[in-house]
Amino acid sequence: MKLELVVTLALEATHSLEEREKPHSHRWDIQVGLKGDLERGRVVSLTHAQELLSSILKPLQNTFLNNNDYLDYDTRACPTCENIALFLLNRLKEPLNQLNSKNPPALSFIQVGIWDKGVQLGFARLSL
Ligand SMILES: [Zn+2]
Repeated sequence: MKLELVVTLALEATHSLEEREKPHSHRWDIQVGLKGDLERGRVVSLTHAQELLSSILKPLQNTFLNNNDYLDYDTRACPTCENIALFLLNRLKEPLNQLNSKNPPALSFIQVGIWDKGVQLGFARLSL
């Protein structure tokens, strides 16, 4: 039976989506879903998943995303929720693949959703 573990952490950051748009701040909820088989009652360690997401979000917290060198060029040039979700998914992929190889059964997919005041704005999903 496959189940999904969902981890949600906040990201507070500023961005501007158009050249002439005034920079503005958000407090997004970043929701990561990890689907896989249960192994001793867990899909993956909740603590591990929270620490991993927190470490990836830390360099973005309280920054102006358009100038943040931690982001890849495309995300920095246009830090939409879709691009941020894709960036986070790519950052999560490698450490989660390593976890997969160490602790079978494998995760079947990772997904990242970005929410603002209860509305989902960005979404990216990767089948492993
Ligand atoms: Zn915005």
